[in-house]
Amino acid sequence: MTEAPIKILVVDDEPELESLIRMEFRKKIRKKEFEFLFAAHGAEALGHIEAGTDLDVILCDLNMPVMDGLTLLSHLSPKKLILKSIVVSAYGDMRNIRSAMNLGAFDFVTKPIEFEDLETTIFKAFKEISQLKEAQRTKAQLQQTTQHLSLAEAQSEQLQELDALKTRLFTNFSHEFRTPLTIIKGMAEQIQEHPHKWTEPGSSMIRRNADYLLHLVNQILDLRKIEAGKLALQAKAGNLVFLARYAFESFHSLAASKDILLSFESQADELWGIFDEAKLLQIFSNLLSNAIKYTPIGGQVSCRCVWDIEGDTARLQIQVSDTGIGIPEDQLPHIFEQFYQAHGETEIQGTGIGLALTQELINLMEGTIEVMSKEGEGSSFAVQLPIPLAAEQQPTNAQIQVAHKDSKPVIHIDPDIEDGLPSLLIVEDNPDIQQYLIACLENRYRLRLANDGQAGIDKALEEIPDIIVSDVMMPRKDGFELCRTLKTDERTSHIPIILLTAKVDIDSKLEGLGLGADAYLSKPFDKGELLIRLEKLIDVRRMLQARYQSAQPLAPSTHPITQKQDAFIERFRQILMDNIDDTAFHVPEMCEAIAMSRSSLHRKVKALTGLSTTHFMQEIRLQRSNELLKNLDLSIADIAYMSGFSTPVYFSKRYKAKYGVSPRAGREQI
Ligand code: ADP
Repeated sequence: MTEAPIKILVVDDEPELESLIRMEFRKKIRKKEFEFLFAAHGAEALGHIEAGTDLDVILCDLNMPVMDGLTLLSHLSPKKLILKSIVVSAYGDMRNIRSAMNLGAFDFVTKPIEFEDLETTIFKAFKEISQLKEAQRTKAQLQQTTQHLSLAEAQSEQLQELDALKTRLFTNFSHEFRTPLTIIKGMAEQIQEHPHKWTEPGSSMIRRNADYLLHLVNQILDLRKIEAGKLALQAKAGNLVFLARYAFESFHSLAASKDILLSFESQADELWGIFDEAKLLQIFSNLLSNAIKYTPIGGQVSCRCVWDIEGDTARLQIQVSDTGIGIPEDQLPHIFEQFYQAHGETEIQGTGIGLALTQELINLMEGTIEVMSKEGEGSSFAVQLPIPLAAEQQPTNAQIQVAHKDSKPVIHIDPDIEDGLPSLLIVEDNPDIQQYLIACLENRYRLRLANDGQAGIDKALEEIPDIIVSDVMMPRKDGFELCRTLKTDERTSHIPIILLTAKVDIDSKLEGLGLGADAYLSKPFDKGELLIRLEKLIDVRRMLQARYQSAQPLAPSTHPITQKQDAFIERFRQILMDNIDDTAFHVPEMCEAIAMSRSSLHRKVKALTGLSTTHFMQEIRLQRSNELLKNLDLSIADIAYMSGFSTPVYFSKRYKAKYGVSPRAGREQI
């Protein structure tokens, strides 16, 4: 039979019934087939049921005090379907029996109870219960299976989505990586085959394209870092309008190449706040470059900055709008997703990372971004950012005045700070970008400014700066022209030049021209990037100085920069060596022989060797005296004259200053 006893609740007000039942069913009770509980009326029974007592069957009288059987039945919730009630009623009380059956009773027995009949009825009820329980179990199993199935379905959908995402990622990246990689590969081959022709232009192309790849990879890494909560804000005080204007102006040549009209509007010229400059620049750049990218020739792109001040925070709104191709309505909700491209397979290149990263950066700054767009009419991205106001409105040491659209930035020279700094010439026609450059470079370089390519060339020749940062698109002469002129002029060929380019300049002109710029920065660049580039070029200068300072004949070099400058230093040496015993051959004579003005020569020699012209000439003379001391058995006085020193005393003094011993002792050491 059953393993667990059938649990029966007897509800009856007759006290004798309990002993009667216990006696009649004693065997079943002993064998643990039946288990009885007793209640004197409906309410007590209901108490048991509601308390969750484990029951299978209720044996219920109809006429009882407190709560009768019918009321009890009506209280049994239809949910308790498994609990079966058997009503006990007087024979012939058909009306009540019917009511009980209508209230869900399973069966009835009549009084006086026939216990055999009751037993059969109980088993019948229990059979029904078992079937119901079995059905319930099957149903639960079925439900579970369905759940598993739908989970599996959801998972497979997710997998499919992930798969689509991966495909999208790979397709986008293959496209985006292909061009720079092709250039890098091609250039490496060219350099191998024709090193003379291609080493210089090829290596800058390789560097530039590798930079672009690095930029793409960095974008992805930034995204991952933000997601992992590992990208922190580096907020500092600054004028936000100034940064916005700079970012905006950086897109001038890109816009010009598509004949797109740019307009910038700001509530005021200044908003001094605390913000992460590099990240804000990235936000501006992504939105502006998209706006230009997705706007056809002749369209318009505008940027608007407005804000409300609330306590010590500015509620900034940046709006970047375009009259471009717009975004289909059904795609709008997705454009901030990673690797999503609304326009599918188009000619327009992209990775689908820009907006995802932009949104994450904005989240990091606790701001929001919204997009409104109509297909065929244009798009508008609105960014809201809380910007804590800066305590002070503070131009720092350079005392830069905020550039209004038409006013020129001013560099205030502070001799105390400037002394000993390398000199840097900025060649740039746009006041906003001039302004940004000045702000980045103040106090690190001695700054000079030229407003176009021609002025840049003139100033470079006049001042021989240590380094030049030049725009490409400029009136009168452009950056390429400046590069060509200065790199082919011996007086200035050593000066490292950083060209500021828009991507469009690279595409249209730079490739293959071999103009010999030392580095390229694509606009808008951030301060850190610029400073690193400059540092690297200053390092090259240090390397050159170390090479030339010894004034010894030079070992051949394969480095293109070195080769060019070696030629100059060798010429300088040769001229002096041709006149080495002429004690009257000084700087003026050298200037004449080498065909350079005194100041140009001074700056060039200083840049290359770290020494003044006089000092460098003296180094060469001392070098010569050592050779003579070693090889010829001549008097010190003769050697002094033969190396071009005007008196033996002066020679001995200089010799001792350099080598720490007298020429005589020096000769013994050699
Ligand atoms: P992408 O590298 O493809 O430009 P983004 O993440 O920057 O990636 O942008 C995602 C998608 O949103 C783009 O592929 C493009 O379809 C759409 N989109 C973004 N900005 C604009 C815009 N200004 N006009 C039209 N479509 C845009």
